[in-house]
Amino acid sequence: MSLDSYLRAAPKAELHLHLEGTARPAAVFELARRSGVALPRDTIDGVGEWFRSRDFTHLMEVYRTICACLRTADDFELIAYELASELARQNCRYAEVGFTPSLHGRNGVSQTTYLEGLSRARERARRTLGVEIAWVFDISRAMRGGAAETMRWAEYTVGVAIDSMESGVIALGLGGPEAGYPPEPFAPFFERGRAAGLRSFPHAGELAGPASIRGALDASAPSASPMGCGRSRTERSSRSWPDGASVSTSARPATCTSASIRASPSIRSLACTRRVSRSP
Ligand SMILES: [Zn+2]
Repeated sequence: MSLDSYLRAAPKAELHLHLEGTARPAAVFELARRSGVALPRDTIDGVGEWFRSRDFTHLMEVYRTICACLRTADDFELIAYELASELARQNCRYAEVGFTPSLHGRNGVSQTTYLEGLSRARERARRTLGVEIAWVFDISRAMRGGAAETMRWAEYTVGVAIDSMESGVIALGLGGPEAGYPPEPFAPFFERGRAAGLRSFPHAGELAGPASIRGALDASAPSASPMGCGRSRTERSSRSWPDGASVSTSARPATCTSASIRASPSIRSLACTRRVSRSP
């Protein structure tokens, strides 16, 4: 068996995706038509080209536009089940998938609506594809409207995440711009999540230096994956700090330079793995 065949056939776990960022150009094209959202390109190929990440600002523009296209439970089910289908095609049996409730809540989509779509897709994926999906609900570091709005939506996200644990939510995440938006103010939300049994999977270190990673470690106490896939990574990272040697940014806190926009599930996310030296 060739290495390529072996890698394709091996059962895999996907540990870092953002659901909204996995939406395919054709799906976004159709969802935009349904919801009346204007896209900057008028063909599916053009949308695919527009998806190509240039920098974080562009990435967030794409991400927010995709979010604006998602209005109904069917919309959320569509992109989540398409993701599951791609996972199955690559023989990924388990995935931890990020989702940002605040962006949809701010767009006027109720939690009942998006949770219904996510749950339908999750059940279908398990039943028909043999793919298990666990959700990581991300807190956004910077919501429009300033700090008070950001904190209000962080509170909202924690509440929805805790209420949805029986629907597959396993962790709280922290995403968005890092410079000027340190993780420390979010510590109480992670504390509340941990008290309820949620894990902590914050992003840090992709847009700011090691101080951001240290802050995220202190603020959220990143924890192990309940499936064990993330446990060794997280523990390795946590242990590395006291001796000051290095931190693996593949561990939580996570890096996703491409932020999964058009990133295929599974192996590609591992390309985000890299080691960074700790600054004095
Ligand atoms: Zn990410």
